Amino acid sequence: MKAAVVPAVGQRWELREVATPRPGPGQVLVRVHACGVCHNDVWLSRGVLPFPPLDPVITGHEAVGEVVEAGPGVTARRPGDRVGVTWVQGTCGRCAYCRRGLPLTGQSGMNCAEPVMTGVTVPGGHAEYVVALVSGTVPLPDELDYETAAPLLCAGYTAWSALRASRAAPRERVAVLGLGGVGHLAVQYARACGFETVAVTRSAEKQELARKLGAALVVADGTQLRESGGADVLLVTGTSYAAAGEALAGVRPNGRVVLAGIDPQGAFTIGPRDMVWANRLQIVGSTHNGPQELHEALRMAAEGAVTPLVETFDREQVAEAVDAVERNEVRFRAVVRYA
Ligand SMILES: [Zn+2]
Ligand SMILES: [Zn+2]
Repeated sequence: MKAAVVPAVGQRWELREVATPRPGPGQVLVRVHACGVCHNDVWLSRGVLPFPPLDPVITGHEAVGEVVEAGPGVTARRPGDRVGVTWVQGTCGRCAYCRRGLPLTGQSGMNCAEPVMTGVTVPGGHAEYVVALVSGTVPLPDELDYETAAPLLCAGYTAWSALRASRAAPRERVAVLGLGGVGHLAVQYARACGFETVAVTRSAEKQELARKLGAALVVADGTQLRESGGADVLLVTGTSYAAAGEALAGVRPNGRVVLAGIDPQGAFTIGPRDMVWANRLQIVGSTHNGPQELHEALRMAAEGAVTPLVETFDREQVAEAVDAVERNEVRFRAVVRYA
């Protein structure tokens, strides 16, 4: 099969011929139609996050496609099923974390002693075929085409989980910091739920886009957010914790700040003027928060409440897609076609 291989740390991705995988017990083989490019894929391949110990290195955790073969013992998925493959496919089931009996989430991937993670511990979805555990697949709604569905497997899942984790209540105001792959969906999810939604972005060019996505107001930073009346919820979707710290200035008393993005280098700091204690702010971590929330995120897109905006690339252009992601030029998710 053809796969987008990262030859070594920091090298450009290359479309190469590699062995087609076969599904083992409890696994399915998925013919990948499309796979989104997440910032984490770029960081993994650049060594900003630990370079995957795979041979060959194939990243990608936004793969969607069709089940073409079910391994021994598989009954929940059948050939012909349209599925997405999740970032965390499964856990060891035996370690101290697993014994706590928690649902399969991004947290499982970061805590289990031997997690099965797409494109991290096992080959990912930037290929014509990917093998996944049944627990790492989710049925796709019929209404969603593959290119629209792909970004929901990580970016959409992250955005919706963050909004859920904020416990946003009726009449509260929701601010979304960062307008990239996750942020452009977070704005739409918040708006779809009826929240007055504020986009926080320094990019002048994205301000008009933010309004089209449903933001009632667009501000540049936390100071402007405060001047506009502040927000009860701040969803941090970008990759800068420094920007997140600055945006604390715009969070109302009793507000919640949800850290849903990864800043691999910067630190999130709370300054004395932020009055986190006196304002009784809550800083909440959030990741992919469970299959039920992924199902909800997919359903909202299937019902037309949320639509990922994608730029599609043919598989031969995968290196260009990654470059565009790295330069923050994509509006708003790069999706590579593999079928
Ligand atoms: Zn991701
Ligand atoms: Zn475990």
